[in-house]
This record gives sequence, C-alpha cells and structure tokens, in this order.
Amino acid sequence: MSENTMTLPPETVPVKIEADICVVGGSCTGVFAALRAARLGAKVVLLEKSNRLGGVATLGLVGMWHSLFDITHQQQIIGGLTFETLERLEKTGACTTFREPTDYYGIRLNSEELTLVLDTMVTSEKNITLYLQTSFSQAVLAGPGKIEAIVAEDKSGRFAIRASVFIDASGDGVLARSAGMTMRRVDHPQPPTSCARFSGWSFPEGFSLRKCMDKYREELPDLPCGYYWGMPIPNSQLFMLAGTRVMQCDCNDPDEITRAEITSRRQIKAILDMLRREFPDRKFGLETLPSAIGIREGLHVESIGTLTGEELLAGRRFPDAIGNGTYPVDIHNDTDATISFKNLNGTMRVYRGDQCISTERWLPEGQVLPYYQIPLSCLIPRGAVNVLVAGRMLDADRDAFGAVRVMVNLNQCGEAAGVAAWQAMRDGKGVANVDRAETRRLLKTGGAIIL
Ligand SMILES: Cc1cc2nc3c(=O)[nH]c(=O)nc-3n(C[C@H](O)[C@H](O)[C@H](O)COP(=O)(O)OP(=O)(O)OC[C@H]3O[C@@H](n4cnc5c(N)ncnc54)[C@H](O)[C@@H]3O)c2cc1C
Repeated sequence: MSENTMTLPPETVPVKIEADICVVGGSCTGVFAALRAARLGAKVVLLEKSNRLGGVATLGLVGMWHSLFDITHQQQIIGGLTFETLERLEKTGACTTFREPTDYYGIRLNSEELTLVLDTMVTSEKNITLYLQTSFSQAVLAGPGKIEAIVAEDKSGRFAIRASVFIDASGDGVLARSAGMTMRRVDHPQPPTSCARFSGWSFPEGFSLRKCMDKYREELPDLPCGYYWGMPIPNSQLFMLAGTRVMQCDCNDPDEITRAEITSRRQIKAILDMLRREFPDRKFGLETLPSAIGIREGLHVESIGTLTGEELLAGRRFPDAIGNGTYPVDIHNDTDATISFKNLNGTMRVYRGDQCISTERWLPEGQVLPYYQIPLSCLIPRGAVNVLVAGRMLDADRDAFGAVRVMVNLNQCGEAAGVAAWQAMRDGKGVANVDRAETRRLLKTGGAIIL
C-alpha cells in the first residue's frame, strides 16, 4: 500500500433509485440472478459497467457453453435460464445443438446474437431497471456485513442505489470487497487470455498451428506458448481463437492488467504476422479484439462453505445443491505452458500446445463420475447480512474452481443467488439464514433441474 495518500472531501450524492435487489455485473450470471428475482416479484436494479450484457461470453468473445447432460448421457442435468437462452438463440441458428449431449466442441454460440437475446430478456422484464455504462464504485455500510446502499458512477456523476439485498456478479468481487468481506488470493491464479476473431481461417490439410508457431518462434518472439483452442462461430464466417496467455498476472492489479491487455494483443499480432508469412497468397483478417481480456481467476470470497476438489470429484451430493456440472477440472498453469484436465470419465490429461503429453486415470478403470454438484453455501459470504456472490469469485479451492468456473455452472449460481436474495428480502432474514430447501424448490419451479 502506498504511503502517498490524500483525504477526499465528504460528498452528498442523489439516491437515483430504491429497489428490493441490486445486482452488480451483467454477465449471464448477473442477468440470470436479476431475472430470477424479478420473476418472483422483486424490483431489481442491474448495473453493468460496459455497453452490453453477457460478460466474458460477449465482451470476451468466448461463445462456448458446455453440455447440459451428465457424462453417461442418461440424464439432462442443467436447464433453467441456460436452456431458455439457448432456445432463443436456436431460433436464429445462433447456437449449435444443446438438446442432446454434445461433442468436444460443446455448445457454440454467436456472442453478438447472445448480446441481442440478453437485451430482449432483460428489457422485457418489467421488474428490472437496467443501467449500462454504469460502474459500481463503493458500498455504503449500515453495519458489519450489511449494505445500506451502493454508490455507482455514470456519465452524469456519482449516485446511490438503495436496496434490501445485493448480489455481487462482477467476477472480480468488487462489491464484496468494498463491503469488507474476506477475500482470498490464490498463489497461482489461472492466466488470463485475450480471444480474437479472424477471417480467412482455413488451412491446407495437415497444417498444425502449434508446429507453425514453433517454426516462427525465434523470428516472432511474441508468439504465445501453451494450450490454445478455437471454434467456428455459428451464423458467421469468422473463427474465434483463444490462443494467448499472460503468465503470472495478478488481474486485480492495474499495472498487471494493463500489461496483460497489451501483451496478449502483441501475441495476437504475432499470430497474424506468422500466418501472413507462412501463407503469403492467402488473406487473413483480424476482425474483432475483445473489449476486455478474459480473466480466468481473481480473488475468491470466503463463504460459509468452500467447495473442495475432493468433494467435487467424489460426486458429493449437497442438501443445498443449486447446480450440477460435468466440466472437467481444467487448470491452466501460470508457471509453465501446460494445462491439465481431470475428466469425469476418469482420465487425467496434460497438454502442451495442442499436444497431449501425458494420460493417466484418476478413477479406477471402468468407473466414471456422471456429474458433480455446486452448493449454495459457497455463494454466501462469511459474515454477510444482505450480500450474496455469484460468479468466478465464489468460494472453491483450486481443483473445484477449475471445474465450476465455466459458464453453464456459473449461470446456475446466478439463478440461485437471485432466488436466495428474494427469500432474504421477503423474510427480512440474513442471507445465511434463508431456507435453502425452499431455494431449491423455487429454482425447480422456475425451470431449473435440481437433483
Ligand atoms: C479465455 C477464456 C476462455 C474461457 N473459455 C470458456 C469456455 O469455453 N466455456 C465456458 O463456459 N467458460 C469459459 N471460460 C470461463 C468463463 O468464461 C468465466 O469463468 C465466466 O464467464 C465468469 O463469469 P462471471 O459472471 O463471474 O464474470 P464475467 O463474465 O467477467 O462478468 C462480470 C461482469 O461484471 C461487470 N463488472 C465488473 N466490474 C463491474 C463494476 N465495477 N460495475 C459494474 N459492472 C461490473 C463486467 O463488465 C462483466 O460484464 C473461459 C474464460 C476465459 C478467460
């Protein structure tokens, strides 16, 4: 902490709106929280600092959700607003199949059309007031763990929003941190990545991007190392590549995040330069850069329950389970260029680039884990009276986080936070005391698959 400080003058700000529930952050996590609470009758304010909803799925260009089925393909395990959103995208061909178990590619989405769908879902809900291009700034506390109002900032200046219950869906946990919740920093957070969209992305048979990068690495030292993946985008001629990575980056530090944005864009430029040198007769276009680098992991909020990898991989059933998932424990290392997957089919694989460098089993031969569960307790900050969290700041250890961090899982967390916030508001209870069996019942009534 710098010794160089200044004291700001006290300020009086207008109270712009009073609501039952205020949601900070408009990714699908935040949108689904807002929709759930609004459909139960709450007056909801939803705040998003960028110009659009969708978070990493739109701003970060990551248009990929994962299977809604258990890994034995016997049972659908994810429904709710994830399913509803996909049904809307399906009408215009803006997503690939989700009604049956999916292959390696998962469910691909067109991020731009997702933006339009989320606009419609939110603006057609009369109980939601949406503020885009509006940033959360600080929490105003009425007592320990109890938020009276938040201060937000837009082009007109600073103003307050009062609410009974608040949901932090900011990814970074900005609201929880400002409200004095205990935040946990991890030693090796998963590295951030800027995705990019390219035109002209087609290659001769047998072409390997990894081998090409190895060939040009000396000539183009900004070329990224490590794992990459990409996908053709539905309803588009473009290809999305998640091919960059910035190692050992604390994404909560302004100097570090600036370094990450610039470094990852240099890596994208190097990929483009490489392709143009390798195929001088072809036309490759850089069509879209993300509005913000994709952050895989930042701070976690210490909650009344920490989901552990041991519990997750044992398939523990929780009495307050609000979500189910099958995405593997997927850890991008930040010290070397490898990524490891513990798949629910029992295999454990390590990759470098697109190459698998080791395969073992973590489950005995013939055994699989059909799905795991996510409990509500990891969304309830310890000591919180009227604040819940939903999103990548949830309380999970390294392995469990590696699995639950994907969007189909966090979407379910958003829905659960919306329902639990509504219960806390209705009953005038602290968030730790809501009836979690009722949360599950209400989620199910609203279309979620609760097992
Ligand atoms: C490169 C990359 C590839 C990935 N690939 C996949 C994949 O293929 N499939 C998958 O499911 N998951 C993938 N993930 C993981 C997944 O995308 C993220 O874990 C998930 O999107 C995080 O969701 P979130 O809601 O917590 O945060 P975010 O999506 O980051 O949303 C947070 C929202 O809060 C807003 N916000 C932040 N601060 C403020 C503020 N002060 N005021 C107002 N609003 C604020 C942000 O603008 C943003 O809209 C990937 C992640 C990365 C980085």
